[in-house]
Amino acid sequence: MIEIKHVSKWYGSFQVLADCTTSVAKGEVVVVCGPSGSGKSTLIKTVNALEPFQEGEIVVDGISVGDAKTDLPKLRSKVGMVFQHFELFPHLSVMDNLTLAQVKVLGRGKDEAAERARKLLDRVGLKAHQEKFPGQLSGGQQQRVAIARALSMDPIAMLFDEPTSALDPEMVNEVLDVMVDLAKEGMTMMVVTHEMGFARKVAHRVVFMDGGKIVEDTDKDAFFDPSALRSERARHFLSKIL
Ligand code: ADP
Ligand code: MG
Repeated sequence: MIEIKHVSKWYGSFQVLADCTTSVAKGEVVVVCGPSGSGKSTLIKTVNALEPFQEGEIVVDGISVGDAKTDLPKLRSKVGMVFQHFELFPHLSVMDNLTLAQVKVLGRGKDEAAERARKLLDRVGLKAHQEKFPGQLSGGQQQRVAIARALSMDPIAMLFDEPTSALDPEMVNEVLDVMVDLAKEGMTMMVVTHEMGFARKVAHRVVFMDGGKIVEDTDKDAFFDPSALRSERARHFLSKIL
């Protein structure tokens, strides 16, 4: 579903991604971790063309992301993205946050979009809050709205960039629970997170980045098996967060 092949990217003379190659198969959950500044956000943003890259190739469901002819709004509507800071539209109600792009980008009728929104809000446990504005919700609730909004576009894959790291600790699990359910339903997911409990529970593979490079790309069990870890850097990182 997502193929990242030999991708390199520079900011001026600073190389932020160095020959990154990995993939996410349909229905697969890949967790991306690594120290701050290692390029995780940049890598995940290249997948739906929020960040350009200079070398290599990324193909999402057969669409070449770097190709100048690619219809980027269409690509982005197929790949849902959830950020650390929820990035909801503050001046729109929860319902309007969920229906806007369905109507504008997918051309759905208002009733159809609202019906879909209600189903998704029910699924993330927020049906009673549909007329509220984002500022009236807790961080955990806002992030669940953000996930529901991304799902309203019927994405073929979901990208998450540290979706729980800005939340108060007591709200982390309500967001992770929604993500665990999504994973169990077979959603294709690429998730930047340091929540190793989540990784253990639902990840198929773990990618570890350091200094713009993919240092480890292994199946989940191998990643958490200390004797199987190949890089000293990953071992050190894990010893700090586990
Ligand atoms: P991570 O998500 O792993 O913390 P990022 O992908 O955000 O890492 O950033 C990787 C590196 O690229 C960092 O050193 C960061 O300072 C640098 N960087 C990120 N965005 C920019 C930018 N717009 N211009 C210059 N450097 C940037
Ligand atoms: Mg980041």
